[in-house]
Amino acid sequence: MAEQVVAAVRTGPGKTELREFPMPDVPDDGALLKVEVAGICGTDAKMYTKPPFADPVIMGHENVGVIAKAGRAFSERKGLVEGDRIFVEHYVGCFRCEWCHAGEYRHCEATDWRTNPDARRYGYTSADNPYHLWGGFSQYMYLPWNSVVHKVPDGVSAELAGLVTPLSNGIEWALVAAGVGYASTVLIQGPGQQGLSQVVACKQAGASQIIVTGTTRDATRFELAKALGADAVIDVLQEDALTRVMELTGGKGVDFVLDCTAGAGTAPVLLGIDALKRREGVMVVQGELAAFPDFPLKKLTEKSIALKSARGHSYRSCELALEQLASHRFPLERLATHTFGLADADKAIRTVAGEGVKDALHVSLLPWAEAAA
Ligand SMILES: [Zn+2]
Ligand SMILES: [Zn+2]
Repeated sequence: MAEQVVAAVRTGPGKTELREFPMPDVPDDGALLKVEVAGICGTDAKMYTKPPFADPVIMGHENVGVIAKAGRAFSERKGLVEGDRIFVEHYVGCFRCEWCHAGEYRHCEATDWRTNPDARRYGYTSADNPYHLWGGFSQYMYLPWNSVVHKVPDGVSAELAGLVTPLSNGIEWALVAAGVGYASTVLIQGPGQQGLSQVVACKQAGASQIIVTGTTRDATRFELAKALGADAVIDVLQEDALTRVMELTGGKGVDFVLDCTAGAGTAPVLLGIDALKRREGVMVVQGELAAFPDFPLKKLTEKSIALKSARGHSYRSCELALEQLASHRFPLERLATHTFGLADADKAIRTVAGEGVKDALHVSLLPWAEAAA
């Protein structure tokens, strides 16, 4: 094995450098992942332009690879051996606190970089920390005893497994947080990788009507939304979205609204409140806005709307996402539109931000691929 590991490191706002790190000594309870695919999402685009702190960070929090080296205790504890292909969650919990004991390690303080400067989370943790390799934009990644990993089923390629994160979020937000199920009517706002993943989750759960909104530049995404199970699509720039939703639902409105828009301001939430059924609709929001002027709280109360926030995924959602990918029931491979090599990390993130290559849905970094021509 090489002595040095090459990684793309975020060194400042919108700045990436290739750097070498020493190959870590793997302890008995740790392992080393040879990274095959590091998926990139909208959060990366935000963290890249406005890093939350100045330390160098190896980004990449949606990681798939093969175990290159595993300590004896790691193998015993995880039931995994060298050569196994795994998906690594970005959370690294303490497994001592009440959240971790409840299986909700995503809420653990030990992995929450927002409140804990010493938190460990793949793609967010400073590369100055011991073992350095805390992100997927790297040839190798370090796996401590408390990393959370999932075996990728046979028949699921590394690239397809790169979709576990958006799909597991789709399952978590639509089915667990919102409660979409049999015969539900759902409005999904935003046909990006996240919105399309919600389409699949809702369809699989038995939703009777799935409506997806987007804008005029989303023509290709609308086609894919239909191929994945959407019943209707609405271009909010060409049509009055609320009128269309009411037409499509026979004047009733929908049971659920899932906001998967990016940078659309207050409009999706306002539409959601109006598009929900007369009483007890459920809306899941991502809360990108720091403040919401003139929020119509009265309307929310009068319609008895439950407003929930979406926050990542659970262990079970990841397992369900892997099962869904293994079933090949939906043409999910069509979501994986673009790949880049390590040297093109900057371009890859900019593509997700909408500044790079056009018409990207899910973008992945392949650390071992040659740089694009
Ligand atoms: Zn992400
Ligand atoms: Zn914990």
